[in-house]
Amino acid sequence: MSGNRERTYIMIKPDGVQRGLIGKIIQRFEDRGYKLIALKMQSATTEHLEKHYADLKGKPFFPGLIKYMASGPVVAMVWEGLDAVKTGRVMLGATNPLQSPVGSIRGDFCLAVGRNICHGSDSVDSAEKEIALWFPEGVTQYTSALDTWVFEN
Ligand code: UDP
Ligand code: MG
Repeated sequence: MSGNRERTYIMIKPDGVQRGLIGKIIQRFEDRGYKLIALKMQSATTEHLEKHYADLKGKPFFPGLIKYMASGPVVAMVWEGLDAVKTGRVMLGATNPLQSPVGSIRGDFCLAVGRNICHGSDSVDSAEKEIALWFPEGVTQYTSALDTWVFEN
């Protein structure tokens, strides 16, 4: 399979920022060949986070999740490349870090489901919604010098 060129929304959560893991997480996406097309640090409001996690409203962990996500700045990013959504999730690991394989971001850097350091869109549809929510100003467009070395066409 040659893969689809997609965009995904990846976010370093407040614990990832506090623990000094911004560089390591970005490095993994760069190393894989994904292209960074949007990046900012932001202290999100409760209202904004409730929109981001609207699908989980009503879950018992929802209030704790919003509090955790509002506890410090996050790093919001959009990465582009082949199968970015699905492969981004594989790179992150499972929701529960204890079930994440070693070699994945969660499998290498964290332990608790409620402190799992990163977020990644779970479908192309949610990626589009999340990118619009976090980057209403839009994303950048540029040709990477590496394009012809990473992609076949
Ligand atoms: N979460 C939690 N307890 C749970 C399930 C999820 O604290 O039992 C948190 C966890 O930080 C997770 C986030 O809620 O990353 C969103 O849950 P989702 O099911 O969307 O997992 P993800 O897509 O982040 O893997
Ligand atoms: Mg999710």
